[in-house]
Amino acid sequence: MPTPHAILSPTERERYRRQMQLPGFGQESQERLKSATALVTGVGGLGGTAALYLAAAGVGRLILVRGGNLQRDDLNRQVLMTDDWVGKPRVFKAQQALAAFNPDIEIEAVCEYVTAENIDGLVQRADIALDCAFDFKERDLLNAACVRWGKPMVEAAMNAMEGYLLTVIPGKTPCLSCLFPEKPEWDCWGFGVLGAVSGTLACLAALEAIKLVAGLGEPLLGQLLTMDLARAEFAKRRAYHDPDCPVCGGVKAKGDRTIPVVMARS
Ligand SMILES: [Zn+2]
Repeated sequence: MPTPHAILSPTERERYRRQMQLPGFGQESQERLKSATALVTGVGGLGGTAALYLAAAGVGRLILVRGGNLQRDDLNRQVLMTDDWVGKPRVFKAQQALAAFNPDIEIEAVCEYVTAENIDGLVQRADIALDCAFDFKERDLLNAACVRWGKPMVEAAMNAMEGYLLTVIPGKTPCLSCLFPEKPEWDCWGFGVLGAVSGTLACLAALEAIKLVAGLGEPLLGQLLTMDLARAEFAKRRAYHDPDCPVCGGVKAKGDRTIPVVMARS
């Protein structure tokens, strides 16, 4: 996690005043957020909404990664978009919307899909990653790169009315491959999705990232949060850490650089 070297401007002190009043969250936590770079893969119903709340909280630099153009049937959940943007690259609209929402942060838009070629460069520049990609191929690439570079990753996935959330700290917690060594049958175009469901999960993913960076509360480490929003049921399950995982097996935590602030202090 970044050391808090960023100094808050008077505008920022005003903007974030209400959250700096939270118990356990003061000026130092806000400066940590300002010093941090978060990588968000996917800017759809999940990633776009998560990025909105990272921007609201004052994460200093966001790297948004998503190829492809906005389609009209994205608009039931992609709240950073507008109807007149249909047919144009959605990542640039997300950048524009977030810059208007919070001009005190930097937003980089990368109009590419996650690939084996670009992922290492992206992860190396980030302090934390949020996995909101739309398929397992991109999710596996991000997970493996986060393990390689010792970067924490918040994993958010959904299927219809269900959501799944997991925070991965390489060397300390199970990774995505420990949980899903074989990928479930999944058709990214095939399931229905409701904006309030992807938005709920996105807020929880952003919250996990904010907690890790700011040293607030207790992050969801080694546990998979499952939610059935059709029934408003939430459950936490202990995630299996596979010692022989082909991605994270044998990986050790690399000191403070990979350990969230809240753990380093304990
Ligand atoms: Zn693993």
